[in-house]
Amino acid sequence: MKILAKGFNYSQDGPGNRLVYHLQGCNFACRWCSNADMIPLDNPASRETGADEVYDEIMRSRMMFFDGGGVTFTGGECTLYSDELLPLFRRLREEGISVCIETNASSPRLRELSEYVDFLIADLKIVDEDRHRRMTGCSNRETLSNIAYFLDSGREIHIRIPLINGVNTDPGEFIDFLKRHDTSHADFEFLPYHEYGREKWGAEYEMKDAFITPETERRFKEEFEKNGLKTIKT
Ligand code: SF4
Repeated sequence: MKILAKGFNYSQDGPGNRLVYHLQGCNFACRWCSNADMIPLDNPASRETGADEVYDEIMRSRMMFFDGGGVTFTGGECTLYSDELLPLFRRLREEGISVCIETNASSPRLRELSEYVDFLIADLKIVDEDRHRRMTGCSNRETLSNIAYFLDSGREIHIRIPLINGVNTDPGEFIDFLKRHDTSHADFEFLPYHEYGREKWGAEYEMKDAFITPETERRFKEEFEKNGLKTIKT
């Protein structure tokens, strides 16, 4: 797998202190992506690393996994490396290492992979298919199908929704979809638009007037909670 960056992070990429791997490459190209350098599969700054080497590094680091921590794979889109991650996750499960992934939930392999994932973080960006295609370059059919599957199978899932002015600021769009499923084991986090990654895009950055107001975020929180959808902030 190609690793662009790695390091420890506390509580934001799953519970406790975690060793976080950022894997190179993403099948989406969200126009607001703050890690544009992680989108192409080829990036000379990333390093091809075998699963055995990653496993050894994780095992050497296990003393650091305090407060319920462990290892997290994110991206880019970590599920692009499902062939390598699946056997790695099996080995980590045998050793009792907590595994978290953060994913755009678009992979047909995600359900299989998630059997060995202790903490699942899935992004839900846009429910409308055409708008999703326009803003991310990809269909959301697999994402919606996977999220619906996880909700209805009763597994715990943490769903992150980026809030972007002019793109997805109607809470009803999400609530209509979510309320058709069992949300009792899910929680939801809103990520207000930011421009920390603007420089990585350079002249290609297309987002304009995309910041949301505090009222919009408050409205999302109120509407979600009114509909029995638990919101959290990590
Ligand atoms: S899914 Fe995430 S990593 Fe991929 S392009 Fe979108 S924001 Fe960037």
